Amino acid sequence: MQAQPQTAEQTLSAIASTVKHLSTSFASGLTRPLAWRKTQLEQLKRLASEREEEIMAALKADLGKCQLESWTSEVGFLISEIDHAISHLGKWSKPRRVSTPIIAMPGKSYIQPDPKGVVLIIGAWNYPFQLTLAPLIPAIAAGNCALIKPSELAPNTSALIAKLIPKYLDRDAFAVVEGGVPETTEVLKQRFDHILYTGGEAVGKIVMRAAAEHLTPVTLELGGKSPCIVASDCDLEVTASRIAWAKWMNVGQTCIAPDYVLVEKAFADKLIEAIKAKLKDFYGDDPAKSSDYGRIINQRHFDRIAGYLNGVDVTYGGQMDRDARYMAPTIVLNPPKDSALMQEEIFGPILPIVPLETIEQSVAFINARHKPLALYLFTGSSQLEQQVLENTSAGSVCINDAMMFMTNAELPFGGVGNSGMGAYHGQWGFDTFSHLKAVMKRSTWFDINWRYPPFNAHKLKWLKRVG
Ligand code: NAD
Repeated sequence: MQAQPQTAEQTLSAIASTVKHLSTSFASGLTRPLAWRKTQLEQLKRLASEREEEIMAALKADLGKCQLESWTSEVGFLISEIDHAISHLGKWSKPRRVSTPIIAMPGKSYIQPDPKGVVLIIGAWNYPFQLTLAPLIPAIAAGNCALIKPSELAPNTSALIAKLIPKYLDRDAFAVVEGGVPETTEVLKQRFDHILYTGGEAVGKIVMRAAAEHLTPVTLELGGKSPCIVASDCDLEVTASRIAWAKWMNVGQTCIAPDYVLVEKAFADKLIEAIKAKLKDFYGDDPAKSSDYGRIINQRHFDRIAGYLNGVDVTYGGQMDRDARYMAPTIVLNPPKDSALMQEEIFGPILPIVPLETIEQSVAFINARHKPLALYLFTGSSQLEQQVLENTSAGSVCINDAMMFMTNAELPFGGVGNSGMGAYHGQWGFDTFSHLKAVMKRSTWFDINWRYPPFNAHKLKWLKRVG
């Protein structure tokens, strides 16, 4: 049986029958064989490599993304996650042996990863190819069917995903629903076995409420203000390069971009001068003319970000063109703590620099706010490193760099507190989309009667001893 092709014209009423079809496919056992999963992963890799040009064109149209960034953070990233999953699939899916207590001897115990069933993946618009399809990799590897909902805010990439998924993957197991709030609302009424949502906190709560109706587990990949601590003993050149790269890649529209910098007062000017020099190296005198500098996703987000500059003094940059959705790399030194710039996640090309009397005060500054998705620290001091690591909480930490933990599939990617719950990438994703089923197998040749009534003091004594 073939699933209905999922296109942009899909009606709301088709959503329930699409999910039903995926459930029937899952129940038939289609997704269980490892060979089938491997083929689907290879097909997803083919999609990414054969359609690279179309994908890059869609990313250019949606976000003005240059080819190198499109490769490193979208297409190439996806391909390396697929390769990692294919080469580890056998190991991840094997029963995981654990020890068995004396009381249950003779016997053996193990954990058997089981596919959850039909999962829902809601993607985000800022890395609209990668953030929609990277969660699909572990969903496939773990043996699930999936409904995929790309973000309507990146319409070119969304349409391309809807076109390509049915061409490359098994239509009985995977379907794409395009659309915005009405479609997402309808999708969320359905019963899924897991939901992975990437996006903002407000919609994250809507997703979690909808999931609660069906007691569906959720992974919420949210955002927030990710701090970047810069100590005066850092390597200034390298620090400035890495901060400028991480902040202005994709025009700051990255969930793990440094949101603001904490720096010792006496060191702030030096750091700003170094970052300014790097920006000139990267994007020239006029970033509007650089083919390596992207654009804001839409005018609503442009207005939101531009609004953060109301009532604050711009230290560097600040040039903008609303029609072209262009905003220059912008630095604001010492914005008021109660300004929107310091209260809201910026998710755009403005970098506030917050001077502190001592760098040690950064721990209290961070702990007075929501737990961030990422935390960055640039320092040569292992003492400061320990102090920050032991006294703060964040989804991920990178010391002397930013965002690079994303390149390691062995590390879980996910938030904590308001920045999200659950994780994926590598085996963390496989486990997210699996039920880790506990299995104990007992032997019957030896059946001691201590646990069976009638009870007596002798049985209790032995049970206390072994158990
Ligand atoms: P959003 O959360 O506003 O929207 C995401 C999707 O939710 C939209 O595509 C829309 O279809 C749907 N939606 C919106 N309103 C809805 C409603 N009322 N009911 C049902 N569905 C609804 O997206 P955003 O806030 O622009 O995304 C940016 C946020 O995403 C930032 O906070 C960023 O940090 C975060 N983010 C996190 C990650 C991560 O991996 N942790 C990655 C990218 C972005």
